[in-house]
Amino acid sequence: MKKIILTGDRPTGRLHVGHYVGSLQERVKLQNSGDYDEIYIMIADAQALTDNAEHPEKVRQNIMNVALDYLACGIDPAKSNIFIQSMVPELTELTFYYMNLVTVSRVQRNPTVKAEIQQRNFEASIPVGFFCYPISQAADITAFRATTVPVGEDQLPMLEQCKEIVHKFNSVYGETLTEPDIILPSNKACLRLPGIDGKAKMSKSLGNCIYLSDEAEDIKKKVMSMFTDPNHLRVEDPGQVEGNPVFIYLDAFCKQEYVDEFLPDYANLEELKEHYKRGGLGDVKVKKFLNNVMQAELAPIRERRKSWEKRLPDVYDILKEGSKVAEAKAAETLRDVKNSMKINYFEDPDFLK
Ligand code: ATP
Ligand code: MG
Repeated sequence: MKKIILTGDRPTGRLHVGHYVGSLQERVKLQNSGDYDEIYIMIADAQALTDNAEHPEKVRQNIMNVALDYLACGIDPAKSNIFIQSMVPELTELTFYYMNLVTVSRVQRNPTVKAEIQQRNFEASIPVGFFCYPISQAADITAFRATTVPVGEDQLPMLEQCKEIVHKFNSVYGETLTEPDIILPSNKACLRLPGIDGKAKMSKSLGNCIYLSDEAEDIKKKVMSMFTDPNHLRVEDPGQVEGNPVFIYLDAFCKQEYVDEFLPDYANLEELKEHYKRGGLGDVKVKKFLNNVMQAELAPIRERRKSWEKRLPDVYDILKEGSKVAEAKAAETLRDVKNSMKINYFEDPDFLK
């Protein structure tokens, strides 16, 4: 069986460091491993419209932003197909058929959908399209016969729901769809990177992000304003490392070479944590170190992004070509699906019988 990757992001803003550690970094690694036969990376504009119907301009403008962020992180268009979801209308058709295989109460039980409805104050007025987005995501994944979906932890319930749809479809209509596996980041700190406000998740919609395209000055300001342990008031006080955003970021981004370069007084990150727990280590010192780490990680990404920004027509061609390849693949799967469902009337010689 071919090994195929499908993953993507909503064009609701520029991508942030949560995307990077939660999914982008892993994608680039998988892409460069050479282990995959096909890789599809989707800019999910149709999904973004499910909760941005009144802001189509925002979605439109961010398509290029997301594409630039991909290229900046090392997604290579020679190895990965970057495409725009709405340019593959087969996905919508698949969604429509899958909707019949899922109950309303099943979607209501999806914990990510629940949390997002709350976050968006949708309780009393959930757009139907938004409610159905886990189903459309199952269409996206299965359309490409994805075997592997590298995403952040919040996507686990979506993958579960997708697998249920695959099973249901295959049991009703016969073996047709491929069951996908999720790949989560192996580093626990990367599963759900908190925002700089200490809130559970860094998210474009919450405005608590460090963006991959932030200038050095902005990164510094954001890092220096980050939440830490609220009980660590004086330098002498013992501090808490667990759940402390500054240390979660260090767990996610720090490499030994950064300790050697920026904090030569410490042997490693563990020693810094021990000092913080003991007391006698101020937040400012830790934040300055984190700032150095973030600057080192993000500078090359920002520079690559700037060079792609000068080549927008090339980015446009990459998206157009990627969308063409993606559509051909999705059309094949849709044909298989319709054959299995026996709604392929005009290709079916038995139709008149
Ligand atoms: P929105 O607020 O519009 O939903 P978002 O910031 O949640 O945007 P998505 O486009 O929904 O971003 O998510 C894209 C991918 O990035 C998903 O695989 C998701 O799991 C991952 N991801 C998003 N935020 C984080 C985070 N804070 N930590 C780890 N992974 C994340
Ligand atoms: Mg999201």
